[in-house]
Amino acid sequence: MKFETVFDDFGTLVFSEKVMKERLPYPVYTQWKQTMSKENSLDRVTADAIAHAMKQWALENGATHFTHWFQPLTGSTAEKHDSFVEPDEFGNPLLRFSGKSLIKGEPDASSFPSGGLRATFEARGYTYWDCSSPAFIKDNILCIPSVFVSYHGESLDKKAPLLKSLEAIDKAATRLVNLLGEKDVRHVNPVVGLEQEYFLIDRDLYKKRLDLQFTGRTLFGSNPSKTQELDDHYFGSIPTRVSNFMKEVDHELWKLGIYVKAEHNEAAPAQFELAPVFTNTNVAIDQNQLVMDILKKTAEKHNFACLLHEKPFAGLNGSGKHNNWSLCTDTGQNLFSPGEKPAENIRFLVFMCAFIKAVDTYPELLRMAASNAGNDHRLGANEAPPAIISIYLGNYIEQILMNLIKTNTTKVVTDIEGNPILGLSYIPRDNTDRNRTSPMAFTGNKFEFRMLGSSLSASTVNVVLNTIMAEALDSISSELDGIKYIQDVRDKGLEICKKILTKHERILFSGDGYSSDWISEAAKRGLPNIPSYVESIDSLIDPKSIKLFTTYKIYSEKELIARNEVLNDDYCKTIEVEVRTLQQIIKRQILPLLVKEIDVITPILNLNIVPDYVTHRLNEITELLNNLSKKNNELAHDFEKVLLIDNLHERGLKIVHEIMPLMLEVRHIIDAYEKISSVDVYDIPLYGEILFGNR
Ligand code: ADP
Ligand code: MG
Repeated sequence: MKFETVFDDFGTLVFSEKVMKERLPYPVYTQWKQTMSKENSLDRVTADAIAHAMKQWALENGATHFTHWFQPLTGSTAEKHDSFVEPDEFGNPLLRFSGKSLIKGEPDASSFPSGGLRATFEARGYTYWDCSSPAFIKDNILCIPSVFVSYHGESLDKKAPLLKSLEAIDKAATRLVNLLGEKDVRHVNPVVGLEQEYFLIDRDLYKKRLDLQFTGRTLFGSNPSKTQELDDHYFGSIPTRVSNFMKEVDHELWKLGIYVKAEHNEAAPAQFELAPVFTNTNVAIDQNQLVMDILKKTAEKHNFACLLHEKPFAGLNGSGKHNNWSLCTDTGQNLFSPGEKPAENIRFLVFMCAFIKAVDTYPELLRMAASNAGNDHRLGANEAPPAIISIYLGNYIEQILMNLIKTNTTKVVTDIEGNPILGLSYIPRDNTDRNRTSPMAFTGNKFEFRMLGSSLSASTVNVVLNTIMAEALDSISSELDGIKYIQDVRDKGLEICKKILTKHERILFSGDGYSSDWISEAAKRGLPNIPSYVESIDSLIDPKSIKLFTTYKIYSEKELIARNEVLNDDYCKTIEVEVRTLQQIIKRQILPLLVKEIDVITPILNLNIVPDYVTHRLNEITELLNNLSKKNNELAHDFEKVLLIDNLHERGLKIVHEIMPLMLEVRHIIDAYEKISSVDVYDIPLYGEILFGNR
């Protein structure tokens, strides 16, 4: 096959709807379409026909194996490859892929975290095809997006609850839209656009940093001086390599049908961003998993390392994953679109208020879902959204809503008095009206949640958004139920909005979210400020959350308890790896380097006149050496004690309050040494070298 432009092979590795239409017998295709629109379940004959077409297509495109591609609770993706080829009764090779293999798989489930949902005697887990996200080919393997459930049907992955939450919000939003008079709307889908931030560094240097390799972040090292920051050496020598990398990333993603463009991002040196065009939530999240995968693999090919960690370098901007979220009807309307006259757009007002209510009712859940151990270094720091959840609406929309509180709600609210843009239609995405410091910003016709950590799966955040929104919408619907005339529905709708805003106004904040004033102001308003991830994990098993998730059948209580356990365990294990790595580096690299520094000056000590500088340096190095070895022993000792705590949540809390500060103390000693280390001795790549290419 020869292509004229790079776009000619766009989507060639996706078993898309277009391919299905071309390759499937028409009745099979319609049957599949009906399954997709939830009118029908898939029967065996249809599944066999789809499997056959999928196999043919995959083989023609170079695939040799197939796999159920799923998203275990580790947050990454997993696959178990099976070959298409099997022997027939005469021992000859036969290419086979049945409807049964397409629909159901049985990976070895024992190695994936389940939070105790799988006792060993029933360790089996099953994967089931998720036909709402297209199959694709990656590394010559046909990947079939799947959910992963236990022998007893409990979900063991990130996708199954997501699909349930999509159904919940579909139902709730459709119900409300219908009540508001739009009877032709039959489905509402949340759509998501995920902006992915990452660092790209030279692989040779990466290989010399055990901390980056084992933990994804630097456990020591500090920001170079300003002069180095201004040095453009790095960008002077690397741009062709970076742009070749980006071109290849784009191309690989285009082949997978992902509309994306990798771009430079000025926030921090060597930091970049990639944003695909938004699409259905489920597909968007699958695509984001692929994006992370392709970024890492392509980086390797270009002798780079792609760092997806939330905070690879202390003192520099961290990385996030911005979750742009809105609701789209099957009639093609965005429910957060303000339209020409937002103040008179009852549907817009009601949906905005539902969102405000949802977020203010469950801020802890959102904070939890956006976090992991890595994000603790990013949230609350002076360079990223604080750990306090608030909503920024922009002046214009906020004024309209505030006006609603003040006015007589039985009348339709007219436009804002004295507003300079009164009379003009609403202009979405006005760049002058954007607040970069808000964790949850309304940006024209969608909400951008910026708290999410860069390495995280976006699934849980969207499960939370969908479910809390479904509940808020339903509570509004139940007040509107049974009202006959549309004018009465509008009046009641406005009254409900007024009630919601009066109660939940506190979540709205348009000031500087990074300022210290906001922290005290938020406390006054009673908004939760949960300082660490571990402290937020329990929000999952809070009675309020259990009620929410079980009512909407997203998670059972048992599943919530299991997930809570997995998250606590994951946190403790992450830090355990960090502590062990740090200790290994200290023992095998830093302490020997300090000894070497002494070796270098020892001969001078034998001179008749020892220069003051040398005596001073000897003292300085000796002090660092003693301090470091002492602190490191303290860390080792305290950490072993922490590991004896059986309760994982208790252990996590001890880590946050005792181990993390100790790690920081150790870091400060290494950083102090790094600053005075001798160029000939210190052979671990410095920030300056990694980020700007100079030592
Ligand atoms: P910015 O960096 O200014 O926030 P970007 O263009 O980098 O903007 O990213 C915006 C993201 O939001 C893209 O992924 C885009 O496709 C997505 N997006 C745009 N409109 C919507 C919408 N209505 N719903 C959800 N996502 C959207
Ligand atoms: Mg953005």
